[in-house]
Order: sequence, then C-alpha cells, then structure tokens
Amino acid sequence: MVRIAIVPGDGIGREVIPVAWNIISSLHPEFESFEVEVGYARWQRTGIACTDEDISVMKEADAILFGAVTTPPDSCYSSVILGIRHALDLYANLRPVKGDDFDIMIVRENSEGLYSGIEWREKDRACTVRVVSVEGSRRIARCASHLAKARGCLLTIGNKANVIKSDVLFREICCEEASRAGIPFEACFIDSLALDILQHPKRYGVIVTTNIFGDILSDVAGYLVGGLGMLPSANIGDQHALFEPVHGSAPDIAGQGRANPIAAIRSGAMLLTHLGYKEDAELIEDAIRSVCQSGIRTPDLGGSASTGSFGEAIRSALGC
Ligand code: ATP
Repeated sequence: MVRIAIVPGDGIGREVIPVAWNIISSLHPEFESFEVEVGYARWQRTGIACTDEDISVMKEADAILFGAVTTPPDSCYSSVILGIRHALDLYANLRPVKGDDFDIMIVRENSEGLYSGIEWREKDRACTVRVVSVEGSRRIARCASHLAKARGCLLTIGNKANVIKSDVLFREICCEEASRAGIPFEACFIDSLALDILQHPKRYGVIVTTNIFGDILSDVAGYLVGGLGMLPSANIGDQHALFEPVHGSAPDIAGQGRANPIAAIRSGAMLLTHLGYKEDAELIEDAIRSVCQSGIRTPDLGGSASTGSFGEAIRSALGC
C-alpha cells in the first residue's frame, strides 16, 4: 500500500495542495494519505511549528506532498522546511524548467551551503557560516552527473569560485565527478549564468549549484515559463522524498483563490514518477498543456480561472 503524507503548510500551500492531491487521488484511489499540519499558522496558534513526532510520521510515508510554509524574519523562529530537509536528509533539490524548446534541470545542493543553519548574532554584526563539505559536494555532484548522463546532455557547474573560496572546492569536486562519469561539462560563474539562462535557455541541460544559488537561479528561470506558479520540485534523499512547488506561501494572494496550482500539480506528477507511475505524470503534463491552451488559466497567466476551477479542468481533461 502506497502511503502519502500531505503537508499543505501555510498561505497558498493550503489552496494548491488540495487541488494537486485531488488529481493524484483521482488517478490512484488506492493510495492512502494522512495529513500533517506544520508551519507558521500552527506556531501562531500553538507556539509549535513542527514537532519530532511530525517528522517521524513523515518518515513513514512513501512520499510527501508539501505545499509551502511562511518563515517570519524572527531570529527565534527556525524554518520548518529547512528542518524537514535536514531531518530527512533530502540533499538533492531537483527543479525542472521546461519549455517548448528547452529542458533544464537545476540540481540544487539542499543540505548545506549558506543554509547550513550555523548562524549567530553579535552586538554589531550577524554571521552565517557557508559550509561546503567534500561529502555534501560529492553526493550532489554524483546525482547531477548521473542525471546529465541519463539525459545525454551538458552539465553546467554554477559557482562563484573567483570570489568565494568554498566554491573552489565545490567546483573541483563537480569537475572530478563529471570527468569520472564521462560527460561533457563546463563551469560558469553564477551571476553571468543567471543572465545567460534567460538569453540562451536551449544551451543548458543539467545545472548543478550550491544551495542559495540554486534557490535564486530557479526563481530567475521561472521567467522562462510564466512565473513562480509553474515550477515544481523534488527533494530527494537516499531514504525519503518530498515534492513541493518552488514558490513560497505567497501571503499577498493567500485566501483569494487566485493561486496558480500548476507548480503543485507538477510536483504531484514528479511524485508519481518517483513512485514508478511515469505514464500518469505524462498524462498530467498533457492535461496542463491542453487546459492552458484552451484559455483556462489563473490570473498570474492572464486568465480568470480560480485555483479550484483550474484543478477541475485538469481532472476533466484526464477523464476523472
Ligand atoms: P514565502 O515567504 O513563504 O517564501 P513569498 O511571498 O516571499 O513567500 P513566494 O510565495 O515565493 O514568496 O511568492 C512571491 C510572489 O510570487 C508572491 O507574492 C505571489 O504574488 C507570486 N506567486 C508565487 N506563487 C504563486 C502562485 N502559485 N500563483 C500565483 N502567484 C504566485
């Protein structure tokens, strides 16, 4: 029996995840699901955002469908999603960006870098440690090299080794692993890469980079496909997998039924592929294309469909 943990989180996570789950469960009524409440709204109500018990039940699932969580700029509040990624050792964040004539996979190191969580405040300054370890770099480099080999494409190593010494290590290890895999590769500075990916998206196949650079680069690449409402992601570890839209909780549009659920639906499609149901994932992608072409779109894409009605259009395109 397949068991899915549903974790809507905050803001528009609570709107897009029910839509995505409705589609998945229509295709697979045999899947069991259980909901886990985490996030800022829970913290405001109870003083707790996520417990060890929540993490334990998530570990029992075959896969996790996650929405988004709000992280207030409060030094006493720890990011829930960072905590989950860390506890489940979800070290690879795969962020596909696909258009008619380009197919890019951003592979973001997900466990260290500037999101190491090692930080402190002093009287006159605040410090965050950027950790780049040999083991952390090697496992993400292997993951990206493996993906580039399977796709038969170029591996681009996004870095800032000209300025940041920890990136010299990251770049060296990625080059070593790419050479070992026998794939074509190049190293690019992340700032010029952020522009070039917009100007020449067809040049790129798999891009591997450190944590914060991958986070920013994927939001930048959202420009190529119509915005943040379009981009899904997978957080993969050796034992667990969590699927979530790239976007956050978008408090500015939460509760209005305007959120684009495509990123969440696509994250659900990635979950299905992960569980071995690749054909269903392709059917979902086809349904998204045909519904958008028919003119049914949410406001961010210039339409007037609500989050829920877009989801219903997808279900009917799938014949559910
Ligand atoms: P958080 O603090 O949780 O990261 P945020 O508002 O800082 O949230 P995002 O949630 O990533 O950042 O969104 C940035 C903006 O992009 C939002 O304010 C919203 O206008 C838009 N946006 C994000 N996701 C969607 C979506 N699914 N549909 C429509 N617009 C979206």
